Order: sequence, then structure tokens, then C-alpha cells
Amino acid sequence: MIAKTAGRTAVVTGGASGIGRAIAERLAADGHRVAVLDLNPSGAAGYKADVTDRAQIDAALAEVRQDLGPVTILVNAAGRDGFKRFTKLSFEEWQRVVDVNLHGTFHCIQAALPDMLEAGWGRIVNISSSSTHSGQPFMAHYVAAKSGVNGLTKALALEFGPKGITVNAIPPSFIDTPMLRSAAERGLLGGTVEDHIERTPVRRVGLPEDIAAACSFFTSEEAGYVTGQILGVNGGRNT
Ligand code: NAP
Repeated sequence: MIAKTAGRTAVVTGGASGIGRAIAERLAADGHRVAVLDLNPSGAAGYKADVTDRAQIDAALAEVRQDLGPVTILVNAAGRDGFKRFTKLSFEEWQRVVDVNLHGTFHCIQAALPDMLEAGWGRIVNISSSSTHSGQPFMAHYVAAKSGVNGLTKALALEFGPKGITVNAIPPSFIDTPMLRSAAERGLLGGTVEDHIERTPVRRVGLPEDIAAACSFFTSEEAGYVTGQILGVNGGRNT
């Protein structure tokens, strides 16, 4: 019988909003000490950092270690979308989206790994996107960056499996968050939220809590034999 996960120190990037916030709340309910790393965090467990800036991440993680102990759970949920016709996409716009979604994930994992290696135990969960399965017009930079996140997940799972560290990804689809609502308001979804519900096999919009539930599993003690997996949480939209 595998023991239930003892309280660990978890860092959730992008934890001030949407999916990241629900994950932070869920991991706290699971009994972990949770630190939120975000551009504009609020509350005692918030640590301000831009995930594209390694010095800010290192400084924030040093504070987290001091306050809450070594970081052995990391969830990379910070992300930024982007919508632009490819022929009009500037390299700067491409780079910004790749920086936040892919390079941010690289930095946070590399910064947190020493604690996991020292502990001989770790859980890393990367929030990618279902667009890596389906493709998405006008989001070439975003789809490319999130596909990189899936690839990084698979490579690191093999590299760090022998060290007791699992690395998995959740590519969400159509989750009701400020990011989704903002895209809907700007007419960028290819239909209204209601239109999309009609196209979703389970006939509802996804909730941040749906992603948090999958994340709770991946970060649990029981999931120690599950690594390198890309678990779609998408209401059946990308089966
Ligand atoms: P959200 O509500 O906009 O939350 C994203 C959070 O990340 C915000 O708090 C944001 O801060 C923060 N953030 C952005 N850039 C950052 C940076 N450079 N450093 C630190 N924090 C940063 O979006 P969400 O929908 O919950 O998205 C969470 C993750 O799921 C993202 O990676 C997104 O790409 C992915 N995703 C979402 C959906 C969906 O349907 N919602 C679908 C596929 C993938 P500010 O608000 O201050 O900018």
C-alpha cells in the first residue's frame, strides 16, 4: 500500500488567476504548503516573479525555501496566449509568447530541481494546451511554445525518473478562466462560449477545478509510476 502524500512545499506559477489559482487551492486542500509565483500575486502565499526572468525566479524560490521549506512540487501554469495571422506575426511577438510559455517553464524547472534531487522525490506538472493536438490558426507562436512544453515534459521524465522525480503535462481545452473570457470577448474563439459548449462532447465548459483534480493526482504519492504523460482534460474535445 502506497502512503498518502505527506505535506510538501508546492510552487504554482500563474497561481493568482484561473487554472493556476484552482491548482494552488487544491494542493493546499491536499495538505501541501503552497506558494504562488505570479506577476501580481496577492495574499501571504504570493511571491512576485516574472517567469521569463531567471533572477526573479531564483530570488522568489529562495524566499519560498526560507518560508516553507524545499520545493518538491512544481506546477507550471503561468502562460500567455496570442492571436495573430502568421504573415503578420513579428519576431518580437513570437519571442514573447515562447518566452513566457516555454522558456518560463525551463527556468522554473531548472531553478526548483536541486531541491527535488536533494530530496530524491519530486513532482513536476506542466500546463500546456490542447492546441498542441489540434493545431490552432493564428496561434502559431503559442502552439509551438506549448508543443515545446510537451516535448520538454517527455525528455525530463526520462532524465529524472531514476531520481524519483515525475514530470507530466496537462493540455487543457476550453477552461472558463479570464484568459478564455478575454479571447471570447475579442471574438477570437471562432464562436461564442455557448457555441463551443455545443461542440464539446460533455456539453459544458471546463472548470479550473477540472484541471486541478488531474494535477492533484499527478502530484500525489500514488502517481509515482506515472511519468512522461500528457493527460488531456478537455471534455472529449480532443480524443
Ligand atoms: P489566466 O487566468 O490568464 O492565468 C494566467 C496567470 O499567469 C495570470 O495570473 C498571469 O498574470 C500569469 N502570468 C502571465 N505571464 C506571466 C509571467 N511572465 N510570469 C508570471 N506569471 C505570469 O489564464 P488560464 O486560462 O488560467 O491559463 C493557465 C494556463 O493554462 C496557461 O499556461 C494557459 O496557456 C493554459 N491554457 C488555458 C486554457 C484555457 O482554456 N483557459 C487552454 C489551454 C491552455 P497576469 O494576469 O497578471 O498577466
